[in-house]
Amino acid sequence: RVPVPALLKRPVDLIVRPDHAHHARIPLPGDLFAPERHNSGGIEFGERTALDRLLADVKAATPELKPVTDATPEQAGAAIAAARAGFAGWSRTQTPTRAAALEQAAHLLESRRSHFIALLQAEGGKTLDDALSELREAADFCRYYAAQGRKLFGQETSMPGPTGESNALAMRGRGVFVAISPWNFPLAIFLGQVAAALMAGNSVVAKPAEQTPRIAREAVALLHEAGIPNSALHLVTGDGRIGAALTAHPDVAGVVFTGSTEVARAINRTLAAKDGPIVPLIAETGGINAMIADATALPEQVADDVVTSAFRSAGQRCSALRLLFVQEDVADRMIEMIAGAARELKIGDPSDVATHVGPVIDLEAKQRLDAHIARMKSEARLHFAGTAPQGCFVAPHIFELTDAGQLTEEVFGPILHVVRYRAENLARVLQAIERTSYGLTLGIHSRIDDTIEAIIDRVQVGNIYVNRNMIGAVVGVQPFGGNGLSGTGPKAGGPHYLARFATEQTVTINT
Ligand code: GLU
Repeated sequence: RVPVPALLKRPVDLIVRPDHAHHARIPLPGDLFAPERHNSGGIEFGERTALDRLLADVKAATPELKPVTDATPEQAGAAIAAARAGFAGWSRTQTPTRAAALEQAAHLLESRRSHFIALLQAEGGKTLDDALSELREAADFCRYYAAQGRKLFGQETSMPGPTGESNALAMRGRGVFVAISPWNFPLAIFLGQVAAALMAGNSVVAKPAEQTPRIAREAVALLHEAGIPNSALHLVTGDGRIGAALTAHPDVAGVVFTGSTEVARAINRTLAAKDGPIVPLIAETGGINAMIADATALPEQVADDVVTSAFRSAGQRCSALRLLFVQEDVADRMIEMIAGAARELKIGDPSDVATHVGPVIDLEAKQRLDAHIARMKSEARLHFAGTAPQGCFVAPHIFELTDAGQLTEEVFGPILHVVRYRAENLARVLQAIERTSYGLTLGIHSRIDDTIEAIIDRVQVGNIYVNRNMIGAVVGVQPFGGNGLSGTGPKAGGPHYLARFATEQTVTINT
């Protein structure tokens, strides 16, 4: 029998929340532990579960990662030209046809789940629960944008005609959209961006992160198979230089980007420097995300939610917790509990089902995180350091800072920074959060409604989570995205996302 980690056993938070279940067709935790019927007839209770089968299928599907060639700038230009040619046909394709292709893509993703999980583990270093929830999120994006698109683009909006004229407002694609996606959600964010741009009637040139081109390639093949014409969707692999060549191209009508604030700024400058039409940028970037836990919070829940928020996915989520503010009165006890919970985490091979924390994405990331840990060791108080195997792994660490200002940049890994605060200084905590100039996620752990309301009222943060963990926004349930240095909006997986990919046309007819 496969040893099952405690985290995977729990139905809430760590794999999926119950409210996700209504649109998820990928097994829920309960399903995974259900005994399965065998060919031999009868049910072997407790002998083989859906999880056992899934693991065997994933193992059999584990791919050999063959080298991927980067595109040249000329090829990037050719992709834009091809997408421009493909725009005419795709933008005239009926809304229900576009939506049906995305729904078919969701279906294909689910039916090939072992293959995609294996790929997410092999190329993206994802643990089983991360790979499962990413697959679910990817399918959700396709279905949700299909459903939203049917509403938004299905028919024109008839406007009032007080002057006797008829007025109608229609939404249509802008042209060629460049979609630049990150390695931390190589399937879900990649597909989310592409699905939204396509649903709005744009043709797309997608440039995935250079660390995860194979997942992107398979996702594009799947979209083509699902009915997206080859001419409407093109993949260009390569590093930031290829991304820069794409965004600088004169025929680009829009850019959607998820990644660092620095790169978002560079794209913005490139777009602004071009002659010709003003090109919109939809950017979702990082955060120095905080959680505030006051003395009324439930310590066990705080410990659990902090460990999930800071260390799950090896902290490689833009939503992850970086800065925990704990009320002085309970700080010692809480830090001890959090360290105790972190000590339970198993770090290592993501294909081992018992693993909670897999590798970081590459050696460069590891070196950057190791350098931060070294700096923190001299500047802050170390409360906890986990042990990681050799290789591209970074063990969870917990440091206590004397001042939140010591953390000046987003640290994209499993490193938690704790700051104590006195109850009477809550306003200073909020100022410190404001001073980061980011505004992506915020956690609040408190049982005092007034405190919760006052914090929500004060901070300009995109996603606020009260008395729970602060990662894993659910498509169509918790629209996701931040303010300030964290992004431009609109929120992914929310009802206003698609509109930003489209252009509006009003037709007035003097009847
Ligand atoms: N949407 C993800 C979450 O809520 C984070 C996306 C990202 O890391 O870019 O955890």
